Amino acid sequence: MATSDTEARGAALLMSRRDLDFLLHEWLDVASLQARDAYRDYDRETIDALQTLAQQVAVRHFAPHNRRNDVEEPSFDGAEVTVNPEVAPALRAYFDAGFGGLAMPTEVGGGGAPFVVAQALDTWFSAANAATLGYAFLTKANANLLLAHAGPEQVDRWVAPMLEGRYFGTMCLSEPQAGSSLADVLTSAEPQGDGTYLIRGNKMWISAGDHGLSENIVHLVLARVVGSPAGTKGLTLFIVPKLLPGGSRNDVRLAGLNHKMGHRGTTNALLNFGEDGGAVGYLVGEEGSGLACMFHMMNEARIGVGMGAATLGYTGYLHALAYARGRPQGRPVGSKDPASPMTPIVEHPDVRRMLLASKAYVEGGLALGL
Ligand SMILES: Cc1cc2nc3c(=O)[nH]c(=O)nc-3n(C[C@H](O)[C@H](O)[C@H](O)COP(=O)(O)OP(=O)(O)OC[C@H]3O[C@@H](n4cnc5c(N)ncnc54)[C@H](O)[C@@H]3O)c2cc1C
Repeated sequence: MATSDTEARGAALLMSRRDLDFLLHEWLDVASLQARDAYRDYDRETIDALQTLAQQVAVRHFAPHNRRNDVEEPSFDGAEVTVNPEVAPALRAYFDAGFGGLAMPTEVGGGGAPFVVAQALDTWFSAANAATLGYAFLTKANANLLLAHAGPEQVDRWVAPMLEGRYFGTMCLSEPQAGSSLADVLTSAEPQGDGTYLIRGNKMWISAGDHGLSENIVHLVLARVVGSPAGTKGLTLFIVPKLLPGGSRNDVRLAGLNHKMGHRGTTNALLNFGEDGGAVGYLVGEEGSGLACMFHMMNEARIGVGMGAATLGYTGYLHALAYARGRPQGRPVGSKDPASPMTPIVEHPDVRRMLLASKAYVEGGLALGL
């Protein structure tokens, strides 16, 4: 795919290719990871080509509906969730290009790239449209948790379709009464004697909690097996799919969508599990190890949220810089001749000071994240 001039200008406002190249190659020397067997295919040329591809997919498929995502937030009519129609094809383009499984092991069909490379590439998508990227970001972290803690059959059943972008994933920790304090999670899990559990409870603020963007949604749910101790030691992790194997509806209902101040294109849901008897859940790891397992995803989410914030700041800085270079206003100190041409505001020392402060924060934030 050749990049047009318009696309190149669009990309230059999203992220700084020069800075990403500097951080990845001159500072972190990521190509030196090639010395490790797992990363032997990731030479500089390959990483650069991937970055060009990420830039193109972000400009073509993510950036055009960034504003629309914000203005037209998802809605729920009591039966179905409606999401801006440009979100699904953008995510299809992302997964078809291989970015979904880029940093996952080749043995499960992933690209086997270093995690830092995948994070750097995602800055293009995050800068272009963080809300649309949100669905992919949760799906990848969900799949990575399962790769670390689930059994081989569970990996085959749930991770493979997430890697292809056919299933999306969520993390269901919070409840209306339990935000920071996960020790107070009340959702219960009742063993059925056949290896499955019936899950009952309410999960609040669940990002990407419901939508029609994927064939299925893999919820990872923290719950308390009946009889478990109070506090976080009694928490266990379950896979609770929206649709059960075979295609019938699991007992997971969307009670409503929350309104947010930002990233409005990513749905945020109150989910009721087990209102109609119990949602079928499949144990991940051991009973009582739920929080430790969940932290695998939470830590990736933390890194992703931090990278997203640095990226948003970065693209904001690039837009401000472009504006300051193009906006003529006033004249330099000592040149008050009204007949002389006005100077771009970037030349005014106080504007430069503000831009340089922004630059220091966003470049530092991006470097820290990587
Ligand atoms: C945009 C968005 C997306 C989200 N997505 C998800 C998701 O996908 N899955 C999910 O499970 N949850 C999600 N959440 C919920 C999120 O995990 C909770 O908001 C978070 O855990 C904080 O809980 P809370 O909002 O109830 O705040 P509270 O826990 O009520 O905290 C309020 C304030 O009190 C402070 N505080 C609380 N306890 C203490 C303490 N012991 N010591 C000192 N200070 C304290 C907090 O730092 C905070 O400033 C999302 C939230 C948002 C805003």
